[in-house]
Amino acid sequence: MSSKYWAPEIETLPRDELEALQLRLLRHTVHSAYHNSAYYGRVMRSAGFDPDSIRTLRDIRKLPFVNKKFERERQEQCPPFGDHIAVPNDRIVRIHASSGTTGVPTASVFTHNDIEAWKESMARQFWGVGMRAGDIYHHALNMSLFVGGLCLLGAERLGAAAIPAGVMDTNRHLMVIKAYRPRFIWGTPSFMLHLSEKAREAGMDPAGLSIRKVIVAGEPGGSIPSTKRKIEEAWAADCYDYYGIADIWAPCATECEEKAGLHVLEDYVLPEVIDPETGEQVGEGEKGELVLTTLKREGQIMLRFRTGDETSYEGERCACGRTHLRLKGITGRTDDMVIAKGVKFYPSQVEEVLRKIPELSNEYQIVVNRGEEYMDGVAVKTEACCGDVEEIRRRLEVELKSVVGIRFDVEVLPLGTLPRTMHKAKRVLDLRRGQMACPA
Ligand SMILES: [Zn+2]
Repeated sequence: MSSKYWAPEIETLPRDELEALQLRLLRHTVHSAYHNSAYYGRVMRSAGFDPDSIRTLRDIRKLPFVNKKFERERQEQCPPFGDHIAVPNDRIVRIHASSGTTGVPTASVFTHNDIEAWKESMARQFWGVGMRAGDIYHHALNMSLFVGGLCLLGAERLGAAAIPAGVMDTNRHLMVIKAYRPRFIWGTPSFMLHLSEKAREAGMDPAGLSIRKVIVAGEPGGSIPSTKRKIEEAWAADCYDYYGIADIWAPCATECEEKAGLHVLEDYVLPEVIDPETGEQVGEGEKGELVLTTLKREGQIMLRFRTGDETSYEGERCACGRTHLRLKGITGRTDDMVIAKGVKFYPSQVEEVLRKIPELSNEYQIVVNRGEEYMDGVAVKTEACCGDVEEIRRRLEVELKSVVGIRFDVEVLPLGTLPRTMHKAKRVLDLRRGQMACPA
């Protein structure tokens, strides 16, 4: 038996029934917050909020937003996990933490039931990209506090053989891939490109190795068509974008084999897309900030968590038959946005242009500086492995101007000049904020 779906009764549930299920789960979550969480209970009571007033999904708008700052404050005031937790501390069996890229890491805690639900939801996502019992899976995510590390348990749940490769020397990754012949791999987009470069340096064609399915997460690259294509061509594999966030749930959304957007696990998390300025929900197809509410998490309940990630959604049933709505990629982080020369842009727009030029390496940097007469100077540094450097430089200037709308000073450096990024790549250096320039 090999069904197309891991949980067909849920994944193909008609929208009205799915929304009825979400409402039941939301009401349960809100009640649990009211009765079991010291913080939510206190705040809701003092505001005169009645948990039974959640009668439709739209009633979620009665609840205030929370964010990273909220989590940090709760944990600082009530260490170690915060008083928003809806179980006694002795029911926690696992502690992860956010990556801490925007400050002190915040704890993400799980009960036994949370861990079981996590494995189940992760197995569904692996199944959705074609993994089956008997497959071999190379898990190239850091096995540490980082919540993505333990996602390999989902592969084991469906019967695949998981290799906890974690973060190690790239040559060792390649050795393990050659030895155990995994068909699946998961890493960040920049790591997958870096690994392909290292394979070639070692005299191997990555396309000739066993990898046929690549899952990427942790950076916008998986949502940038030209980056995705570059990964697919390098490995002769299909590349699927994945989205998870430690504060909410490890797996939140993944592409299916149609690669037509990331299906949200709508029975685990309730998504909203809002206008970041007004907080109002925006319509289908409109860009906004992703807000998520946990629906099955027992310990760390999050009601309307502002993720800071920009996306839009599509509600129409996917060609794969799943009814769960699809995010049309994660196009940027609201805190990643660069404002220079009076124009707002995301590093992902620059990356899209760079990836279309085959002579360029995978590395790049955007450097924003305060130029002459207080005008911002914006430079893009990249590397070419071959071709006419001056011609590439001119072509980049023209294309960046046309896509982003401002003039960039483009530097095309010799291969190997820029610092190498293994996992989450830091692409923007904003010297107006006093950051040090990397040696290049
Ligand atoms: Zn689909």
